[in-house]
Amino acid sequence: MKDEGGRMKVMERRRFIKTLSLGVGGGVLFPSLLLAQKNSFDLALEGQELLAQGKYKEAVVRLSQAVRIDPQNEWIWGLLGRAYFQQGKMRKSLESFRQVLRINPDDTYSRMMVDIITQKPLPPEEKPVRPMSELEKKALEEEKQIFARLSESQGLGYRIQRIVLDPGHGGFDSGAVGLNKLQEKNVNLELAQKTARILKNMDSGLKIFMTRTDDYYVPLSARTTTANQYNADIFISFHINANRNRKPRGMETYFCAEKASSKEAARVARFENSVLKYEKHDLVQKGYVNIEEILFLFERKRYWEAGGKAAHIVQKNLARSVHLRNRGVHSANFYVLRRAKMPSILLETGFISNPEEEKLLADEQFRHNLAVSIARAICSLKQTGV
Ligand SMILES: [Zn+2]
Repeated sequence: MKDEGGRMKVMERRRFIKTLSLGVGGGVLFPSLLLAQKNSFDLALEGQELLAQGKYKEAVVRLSQAVRIDPQNEWIWGLLGRAYFQQGKMRKSLESFRQVLRINPDDTYSRMMVDIITQKPLPPEEKPVRPMSELEKKALEEEKQIFARLSESQGLGYRIQRIVLDPGHGGFDSGAVGLNKLQEKNVNLELAQKTARILKNMDSGLKIFMTRTDDYYVPLSARTTTANQYNADIFISFHINANRNRKPRGMETYFCAEKASSKEAARVARFENSVLKYEKHDLVQKGYVNIEEILFLFERKRYWEAGGKAAHIVQKNLARSVHLRNRGVHSANFYVLRRAKMPSILLETGFISNPEEEKLLADEQFRHNLAVSIARAICSLKQTGV
């Protein structure tokens, strides 16, 4: 699921080679087949090109012709599904992705698309539907079973083996600062490093990566890029909370969502995102539809859901062993989590603005215990998956 973009490309490339070799090998014996293969392939390529240019209507025309010639070609059905999806023709899109699954039940991308489309009520029928054939009924039944296995309780079954620990802030960006001048960036780094050490000593079997290992500044976008390059299964960002009011205390865990779960969650995200003003923003090319980007946006929904599950597991574990008020799980739009191609969470373990908690956070023994609890929570993520 994680590397779907990459897999799609591999699949298309494989299909390309297969189609070519079929054309060359079969061409001598079956010239009509060669012609048909070549035609459907050319049409599909044109369709893919049109899809990339955002010309969805023309793409649908070409791809529909292509599947008529080569109805067993899952690649073309997948392209057609994407073209219909872009046009907002959800029923047609769903039908195409279901065709892919009939040909190749292992195609996780199409399965995900079927899942995404069926989560929303479908618009009224575009055409009267013919009664389903026995084969289609069977395929639908199998599809339901697959979804049942991927149900809420089990999630997508992301196995946690590679983790990225991200000590928030660093260098000129000190993060929040306490009354006694304790700096968030230093607490974050120490907690993350301790957690990594403890996980290693525990023989957790996890592969651990860090986004920074010293007191320097790492742009928010570079942190997730690093995590994506490491192909990690989960991204955990370490932070300490702060408030202008000295009273608030306790710990909370966040996951990423487009809209904040509360005003307070929005405030926290605003603070953690504030360093963005120093960063160069990605330039978006106008009039250019990046299919990889579209695919990522679809996949991201799944990562965020899994992030929510991970956040609950972690917070529950921490609440059991850390003596800080349990402020629960929240969601907001954190820039550092947004671009991660994996489930991600952000920890806010205590308020540096609260004098008592600042004292605790500066205490070696407290930090050690906190890191042990975080390491245990991560192990429990590894056991259950998200
Ligand atoms: Zn922070």
